[in-house]
Amino acid sequence: MLGLMQDWPLTVDRILDHAKANFPNREVVTRSIEGPITRNTYGNIWTRAKKVTGALRARGIQMGDRVGTLAWNTDRHLEAWYGAMGMGAVLHTLNPRLFPEQIAWIINHAEDKVLFFDTTFTPIVEKIAPLLTSVKLYVAFTDRAHVPESSVPIEAYEDFIHGQSTDAAWGGFDENTAAGLCYTSGTTGDPKGVLYSHRSNVLHAMAANQTDVFGCGASDVVMPIVPMFHANAWAISFVGPMCGAKVVMPGGKLDGPSVFELLETEGVTFTAAVPTVWLGLLAFLRENKLKPTTLKRVVIGGSAVPEAVLRAFEEDYGIEVLHGWGMTEMSPMGTVGKLLPEHAAQDRESQLKTKLKQGRPPFTVEMKIVDDEGVEKPHDGKAFGRLLVRGPSIAKAYFKNAGAKNDKGEALEKCGFFDTGDVATIDPLGIMQITDRAKDVIKSGGEWISSIDIENLAVGADGVANAAVIGILHPKWDERPLLIIEPKPGAQPTRDQLLKFLEGKIAKWWMPDDVVLVEKIPLGATGKINKLALRETFKNYKFPTTQAAE
Ligand code: AMP
Repeated sequence: MLGLMQDWPLTVDRILDHAKANFPNREVVTRSIEGPITRNTYGNIWTRAKKVTGALRARGIQMGDRVGTLAWNTDRHLEAWYGAMGMGAVLHTLNPRLFPEQIAWIINHAEDKVLFFDTTFTPIVEKIAPLLTSVKLYVAFTDRAHVPESSVPIEAYEDFIHGQSTDAAWGGFDENTAAGLCYTSGTTGDPKGVLYSHRSNVLHAMAANQTDVFGCGASDVVMPIVPMFHANAWAISFVGPMCGAKVVMPGGKLDGPSVFELLETEGVTFTAAVPTVWLGLLAFLRENKLKPTTLKRVVIGGSAVPEAVLRAFEEDYGIEVLHGWGMTEMSPMGTVGKLLPEHAAQDRESQLKTKLKQGRPPFTVEMKIVDDEGVEKPHDGKAFGRLLVRGPSIAKAYFKNAGAKNDKGEALEKCGFFDTGDVATIDPLGIMQITDRAKDVIKSGGEWISSIDIENLAVGADGVANAAVIGILHPKWDERPLLIIEPKPGAQPTRDQLLKFLEGKIAKWWMPDDVVLVEKIPLGATGKINKLALRETFKNYKFPTTQAAE
């Protein structure tokens, strides 16, 4: 027997329809690429998104066609986002921090027909245009006056949508229709495309905005610092219009002073970014003795939250940190670290320990940890294993069946779960802690050492700007940890000071065998430490003890 409820497919165009119907005057504020702060509304964004649809259709774009964007978070990007998805085209965000050749490879693989881009990225577009095999239309997110002279035929976005009507139809297709495409950072092998559906995006946004996750409402002012090209801006481009929050789009300026200015002038209450952005903001606040006055909650994810960052936000500024873990393949939200009633009676230090863990899954995410044979490990907070996940907003396959593990083209384990590539523990309250990336774990004498744990402690030491730990081959132990430190400007922390700082905080056999200082720790395209580059730099490195033994 079927239920007797209405047929209302979960398509994302309904999210902007909802915002227009209920919050037409709620603001969307942007630090524009041209410079000034601009003020827009959901009502107007809806109007202009409809025009984008009209313009795309007029140029022959159809359902299922891929529409690329190489752009920062702005209101125009949001309009193109809904304009493309609303008509059933696939909005494909591109990460401008990748090498131009990689971007070209991804565009060709995705067969993007249109490329929207910010004028900041014109040099990239000019470099890749001769390599592109499918792009027919280049549209710069600006007006005619700001279109740069170029060898590429560039149209101004404002001209592109000009004169279009607002009655272009949206939706009306299956909720499982593809809506968005985002390639993984591809630290190993070619990048792989994650193809979100309308249904997965809607469910994910609802899951991400549950009370114990983001918990945003119409009184919030949300600023997605995390770019729309980094896994859907962690759902915020859907969550904002869904709950009627005012949205502040930071454009391309993500440095401490620029972020702080917007936080204060726009009264931001909720924001989200990777730890590197927060390190920049916190350094700026400290140097200038400033304090955010309206910010209540920050989501920090993408890599583990360093203890020093957690303490600074919560103890110095009274801002709640929500530690989040996820991945592009999970839309991206996997867990968020909100405390439970069971933690209420604990002292602050114990609570802090829990908050440094990656947190628990919201409804729609199932998790388990398994050994190499797929046998489940206990949820005792100690046993660690490969972290597998399942849910309606988690990839079952990659675009064009890349990385398929079975003959159906799926990238799933035999049990039907997706292997995250992370190694983790889960405690009896269901709180997950990442021990490491499976490939970054340091395998010493048959035991595993977590590089992340040591890094997070080391960034708290005096004079340290950033820290990384990698495994170095060792004749006796297979691998031993090497601690790599980027000092703060002007600081020169010594090996002995750093090792002394770690003493007692980690097991003796986890102590790095050596410490080296580098000018800059390389970061990857999404702001995470680029371990691959570090392993390459230190591939001939030998510990002093190893050299002595040889
Ligand atoms: P991406 O798909 O580029 O966002 O990368 C996903 C990966 O980033 C995950 O599989 C984790 O290895 C890592 N990651 C994301 N969030 C966290 C976190 N809070 N702590 C530790 N690692 C994280």
